[in-house]
Amino acid sequence: MSNRLQDKVAVITGGTSGIGLATAKRFAAEGAHVFITGRRQAELDAALKELGPRVTGVRGDVSQPADLDRLYERVRREHDHIDILFANAGGGEFAALGSLSEAHIDKTFDINVKGTVFTVQKALPLLRDGASIILTGSTAAIVGSPAFSIYGATKAALRSFARNWMLDLKDRHIRINTLSPGPIRTPGLHGLGKTEEESRAILDSLAASVPMGRLGEPDEVAKAAVFLASEDSSFVNGSELFVDGGMAQI
Ligand code: NAD
Repeated sequence: MSNRLQDKVAVITGGTSGIGLATAKRFAAEGAHVFITGRRQAELDAALKELGPRVTGVRGDVSQPADLDRLYERVRREHDHIDILFANAGGGEFAALGSLSEAHIDKTFDINVKGTVFTVQKALPLLRDGASIILTGSTAAIVGSPAFSIYGATKAALRSFARNWMLDLKDRHIRINTLSPGPIRTPGLHGLGKTEEESRAILDSLAASVPMGRLGEPDEVAKAAVFLASEDSSFVNGSELFVDGGMAQI
């Protein structure tokens, strides 16, 4: 590591597992003070044990604005500012058009869209001029899949947010980019099927749909997050970085 984030204050939503956990590890190893969120205390405790003393955990659900207020109050008390905001919490379930329900649509939009809006909006008073914001998108926003239409639509919204908010944030020199993974081997991806066998079949077919012929690893996304968080990407703004083995370029 080369201390590219030395003494920066970073907030990562959804940091107890998968991409968020791998990124918290990388950010801390690069010298940052990191806050992670997770919905369940036990998962937060397990992650913190793995991550060490540079990382603080705050329990909360990004779809609940009051939880975000608590998160940022804690950051304000301990550090008074944010240099890096990784709005990463999110997810979605398989649901084909014929089986879409209002509950599925509301839940997916509440977490991925509303959650991202308030994660960023409520951070504004704390974000330092020159800060970097990263939104976790997905190749699902632009690659068709018979069962991911609502999830894909929420992730398409994030690409649009980055382009629009870039203009809101320009006077403060805050950069904002979307980091869009293809299929990554995380707990979130493992539970897509109703049975273990079905989940394995989904993973195999996802891997086969990637030009590189395999799933990505969480750390491969974390490395790209470090790039977008650091000065290495100082002229990258309003952009979208795919970490997907080529999936979005077919
Ligand atoms: P994961 O399930 O391994 O981890 C998700 C994390 O987000 C956990 O820490 C969980 O507690 C947290 N989280 C979920 N909903 C939350 C909520 N409402 N409030 C607060 N925290 C919440 O998943 P992952 O695969 O690492 O996913 C991370 C992000 O990457 C998500 O936004 C997901 O949509 C996106 N993504 C994942 C993949 C993939 O293949 N794994 C591909 C593209 C995009």
